Amino acid sequence: MTDCIFCKIANGEIPSKFIYEDDKVAAFNDLNPQAPVHFLVIPKKHYASLNDIDSKEAFADIFSAIPKITAKLGIKEYRTVVNTGASAGQTVFHIHVHVMAGREFTWPAG
Ligand code: 5GP
Ligand code: ZN
Repeated sequence: MTDCIFCKIANGEIPSKFIYEDDKVAAFNDLNPQAPVHFLVIPKKHYASLNDIDSKEAFADIFSAIPKITAKLGIKEYRTVVNTGASAGQTVFHIHVHVMAGREFTWPAG
């Protein structure tokens, strides 16, 4: 999608340091981290939100990357968040999973 910041990060139009990449997904540190570790996992294909994911494979591609990345970082406990829609806190409309670690997390989320 032409005007999507995460598509531009995924396709290299905006140079970024990936902490993980394969043919389907990329992961990079959040610009405004909310925890000592805070990265985002995105599919390279544009889906505006969780509501638009159209295949089990797309879910699997995104979520199966997470334990690979956390293992590489030596992290066993972490919070994953997927905000869907503006009222849930979504500000970038290219699906992404937040992965946060390195501090205590409270529940319920705010
Ligand atoms: P959302 O609020 O949509 O769930 O999360 C969007 C996240 O993307 C925010 O945590 C924000 O800090 C992050 N973000 C927005 N623009 C950029 C960017 O250009 N680069 C990076 N690395 N993160 C971004
Ligand atoms: Zn996009």
